[in-house]
Amino acid sequence: MSVRAPGAGAGAPGAKRPRLFDHHVHSDRSDGTVSLEGRAKSVAIRPHGVSDHYPWRDKLRTEDDVKRYLEDATRLGLRVGIEYDLGVAPPLSADLREALHYVIGAIHQVELDGKRIAYDDAGAYVKGRTKMFKQVERFSDPDLQRRILERTLEVVAEGIDRDRIDILGHPTFSALQALGDPERVYPEEWQERLIDLCVKGGIAIEINESYEVPHREFLVRAARAGALFSVGTDTHFAIKPLDKTEAMIAAADLRGDRFLAGRRIAVA
Ligand SMILES: [Zn+2]
Ligand SMILES: [Zn+2]
Repeated sequence: MSVRAPGAGAGAPGAKRPRLFDHHVHSDRSDGTVSLEGRAKSVAIRPHGVSDHYPWRDKLRTEDDVKRYLEDATRLGLRVGIEYDLGVAPPLSADLREALHYVIGAIHQVELDGKRIAYDDAGAYVKGRTKMFKQVERFSDPDLQRRILERTLEVVAEGIDRDRIDILGHPTFSALQALGDPERVYPEEWQERLIDLCVKGGIAIEINESYEVPHREFLVRAARAGALFSVGTDTHFAIKPLDKTEAMIAAADLRGDRFLAGRRIAVA
């Protein structure tokens, strides 16, 4: 069921919506399957940049690796970002941050008491790659949930203040997402705090096609708080239509003028 404000033009016939720019696209410079040359060609299908994982194993280990990536991709005419691994990556130097067209900060695990709590299985499950999430019991522990939620806010705040990320990638993805109803696993008060960090920090909230996050209520709350948004398919394969993203935008009735378009918003 979709609730739409009266007079909203999101899905109205003939309403001209600006073409959405897809900021979150991987290449074979991290774990994607398509070369930068291939990505440069698919820009003709619909506008997109590239944003590979940093750090990434043997490929994007250091800032020098990222500089080479930026040069190579820019030469091909691409807009270039990185998917900066919040809570894991070394601090981002200011000159590299400025040289990139945008920086997506995203969480793929959290560390609690020096132990890594991995989200890999949850990720595979929410992306539909596995049929069962085997860690339901573990992540149903209220104490662990509380600690994960608190740590998430700390890590996002650090990404905003220290590393000056521009976009929060797949917000609300965590192992808790794999438990089911996001309105139950993510208390409203926590959602509001996460949104507040993004709004006050001037960073965009990504609508992620692969993880299908954030859910509608979160997007509605974010829009009400005056948030900026950003589209990210997070594709590792060929460029495909933005079907789920368009549906999520329409369901939350988000305004086209609140979306980033391949560059950061300059803050005076
Ligand atoms: Zn990610
Ligand atoms: Zn990604």
